[in-house]
Amino acid sequence: MSYPGGDLRDQLAHVGAEAVRTGLVIGSGGNLSAREPGQDACWVTSSGSWLDRLDRGEFSLLAIPGGEVRDGRPTPSSEWRLHTETYARRPDVNAVIHLHPQTSVLLSALGHDVALLTTDHAYYLREVATVGFDQPGTADLAVTAAEAVAGGVNALVLGHHGCSVLADTVELAHKRAFNLEEAARATYSALLLTGDDGSRIPRVPQRFLDAVRTGEASA
Ligand SMILES: [Zn+2]
Repeated sequence: MSYPGGDLRDQLAHVGAEAVRTGLVIGSGGNLSAREPGQDACWVTSSGSWLDRLDRGEFSLLAIPGGEVRDGRPTPSSEWRLHTETYARRPDVNAVIHLHPQTSVLLSALGHDVALLTTDHAYYLREVATVGFDQPGTADLAVTAAEAVAGGVNALVLGHHGCSVLADTVELAHKRAFNLEEAARATYSALLLTGDDGSRIPRVPQRFLDAVRTGEASA
């Protein structure tokens, strides 16, 4: 079965259901958005929505970057600034997936990077950035996160909180979010098996990363 197309809210509802079904998050741990093509506006999950029970009525259409509600539910997620700030700084990004995946957050809290061990991790993520803790829902968090990805990074871990994963399509952002937590789980296992500070974790060879950057590699 192909990935769902059509209305962006349907695509985001699919991401939410799959994120819970596959164990990326539990319950309502996160919020999702997509930029409406040709508009300075994005659909963001509304306040209090459950990721695995989304439908078109569970979204707010917000202006970028100010957040004024243009359509849909009047109360967007409290984390709406994270989305609008990111879109404002990354014109190439059309989808933002913010989740609370447990292993990615655990590793960053322990001071470990998420290692790219496999070709899938390297191909989809290329690089994982991390920022320190900011209070959820604040402008400080939104600005810090947006600045961290302004240079082109598409996978960010927010200290003690969650992740923000970006792409030009909902489907690619979904794949990246899945690969981020998968890489974190592999890193966690590698840390247990190697019993060291992370320096002996075998990472994907540099020549593959170089090929990804030049467009000569596939996953
Ligand atoms: Zn959050």
